[in-house]
Amino acid sequence: MSIANAIEVEQLSFQYDGRYVLEDISFSIPKGSFLGLVGPNGSGKSTLIKCILGLQKPSKGLIRLFGTEQRKFKERSKIGYVSQKANSFNSGFPATVFEVVSTGLTSKIGLFKFMTPAHRKKVKEAIAAVGMSEFINRNIGELSGGQQQRIFIARALVSDPELLILDEPTVGVDAQNVQNFYQLLEKLNKEHGITLLLVTHDIGTITDKVTHVACLNKFLHFHGESKDFETFCEHDVSMFYGHDIHMLTHHHDHGGQHA
Ligand code: ADP
Repeated sequence: MSIANAIEVEQLSFQYDGRYVLEDISFSIPKGSFLGLVGPNGSGKSTLIKCILGLQKPSKGLIRLFGTEQRKFKERSKIGYVSQKANSFNSGFPATVFEVVSTGLTSKIGLFKFMTPAHRKKVKEAIAAVGMSEFINRNIGELSGGQQQRIFIARALVSDPELLILDEPTVGVDAQNVQNFYQLLEKLNKEHGITLLLVTHDIGTITDKVTHVACLNKFLHFHGESKDFETFCEHDVSMFYGHDIHMLTHHHDHGGQHA
């Protein structure tokens, strides 16, 4: 049986201390697509990602990764993850770009194993794929936020993931580099065939790159402005021509407490 979806989420609910953050969320991410997961701050985007990665346990519902139920999924190296705060090493941090990217191999070869020449080649290829070869021997802390973020993508790429999950990866990256960064993601999606799940609070930055959009709240941010989802679709939908927009939920617009 061929598996069409990288991720399937069915009727997922999650609560912190009895307060629903996610309720009855269902969506799927077809293999090879580039999905933008949008929603304002606090709408539950990171929580949803944590549930997908198995770092949080949902109260209800089901998550499948490449057709296998989340808790039975063992092929961890198929999934790369770049977190929000990846790009904040200070200048004294004692690790080179090569070393940082090498740590991405641990899901494949385990900790404290020696690297073979094939592993070293893999690391170099991943660094080349993000356009950072000239920085390979530099200390990570000497790079800019945007450059560090590329290195963390390389670290995720080194285990040949089929799915790359990025949680607000451009926080702290300046506007020009944000565009370069999204071009890199587009290349990974189109040329390397990697399925992408990109979390962002501003849908305006990704409209021309993604193939699908999922919205986690009734309101969304578009170039810094808050818009009602339905109004947004009516007035701005031409920007999404060819995109498949899913409205996931609108239960907690007012931060409401559930009985
Ligand atoms: P987003 O990523 O969209 O900004 P989050 O998933 O981080 O949203 O947070 C969703 C909601 O859950 C917020 O109201 C946040 O304050 C709350 N929250 C997040 N983490 C915790 C936690 N560990 N304990 C309690 N509440 C939390």
